[in-house]
Amino acid sequence: MDKKKFKTGTICVQGGWQPKKGESRVLPIYQSTTFKYDTSAEMADLFDLKASGYFYTRLQNPTNDVVASKICDLEGGVAAMLTSSGQAANFYAIFNICEAGDHFVSSSTIYGGTYNLFAVTMKKLGIECTFVDPDASEEEILAAFRPNTKALFGETIANPVCSVLDIEKFARIAHSQGVPLIVDNTFPTPINCKPFKFGCDIVTHSTTKYMDGHASCVGGCIVDSGNFDWGAHKDKFPGMTEPDPSYHGLAYYESFGKAAFITKATVQLMRDLGSIQGPQNAFLLNLGLETLHLRMRRHCENAQKVAEYLSNHPKVAWVNFPGLKSDKYYDLAQKQFEDGRSCGVVTFGIKGGREESIRFMDSLKLACIVTHVADARTCVLHPASHTHRQLSDEQLIEAGVRPDLIRFSVGIEEAEDIIADIEQALNA
Ligand code: PLP
Repeated sequence: MDKKKFKTGTICVQGGWQPKKGESRVLPIYQSTTFKYDTSAEMADLFDLKASGYFYTRLQNPTNDVVASKICDLEGGVAAMLTSSGQAANFYAIFNICEAGDHFVSSSTIYGGTYNLFAVTMKKLGIECTFVDPDASEEEILAAFRPNTKALFGETIANPVCSVLDIEKFARIAHSQGVPLIVDNTFPTPINCKPFKFGCDIVTHSTTKYMDGHASCVGGCIVDSGNFDWGAHKDKFPGMTEPDPSYHGLAYYESFGKAAFITKATVQLMRDLGSIQGPQNAFLLNLGLETLHLRMRRHCENAQKVAEYLSNHPKVAWVNFPGLKSDKYYDLAQKQFEDGRSCGVVTFGIKGGREESIRFMDSLKLACIVTHVADARTCVLHPASHTHRQLSDEQLIEAGVRPDLIRFSVGIEEAEDIIADIEQALNA
């Protein structure tokens, strides 16, 4: 059967590993740094990319590749790679096509760690980023582009503000400037949103979140749709189209076509920077993926109940959740997300501001204060004090992070128990 025709839930369970007769039913863990060959010439062909095969896990590992191929099928892409973290995925996705002297444009409402990577660390590498309000008009966003702009970036659902990216608008803007749109699809996962359907070119993930789902391993993934025509924009992307001296003059686009982006990121960036995911972690990630479709549904159902409860509570000042009819992004969520389901994260503020929000959090019993988000257990965080504390007040406002914002990551426990915990904390 053609596995590409399977529905999303079936790919979650059965995608990736396809055992042959007598092979392990469950994905094996290739816990090996290296792979054996019979002749020196065979190994040389691998180094020259004349033959495909495994030789060193820093570049590729069979367990990792199987898991990457499952995520690739879930997103509807042509090629994918795992990385050691979501940070590495976003860094590689940009650094694969940007070098010193280049520029890219990003939505300002993104995860604080990604903001810092783009605003501070990339700058040290000579790559500049301009942040734009994702809800600004096309004209305003276009004004941020320069002749040396190489990519446009956004998060499908922004962490932590829960704003929804208009992917079609962003794709239109990126393509009018001859650059790819890269979207971090961590929060909805491909269960709820498939950004390639709306014109996005490259998807990234922090698999640390819902994909693993059990808060057991940090990881990332990059998936390429194969739709961006690097050949049509040779002047902008010489790294994709011109000979690579570190690979004996190999030109990625010419040699690998639609797989060029992932091949380059693997053989060049992974070779030189080495942020590979450990095979054991990839195995655990795969276990998480097997139930992703079930868990996402439950996360979303629970989050909907929590958001509705909060939005009707007199002590709650405001609630952001795209599943609420009153939410600014409700219509966009209905259009872009499977059955309108977004994710399990709800953000809100308590009347009385920052201090009251912190007091509420400290009174929770079932929901734990952790740095994490998007796993099976309900957890909570105050971004202004935690994940985003490196941002100045001005950057916090730009990232849409209000000082009173509570990020409530609704788990897959019983909704009644989660709401009872919120209620007792609000009364405390
Ligand atoms: N992207 C998003 C949307 C995130 O929420 C995070 C982490 O919270 C990251 C990327 C970074 O991922 P990781 O923590 O796996 O490096």
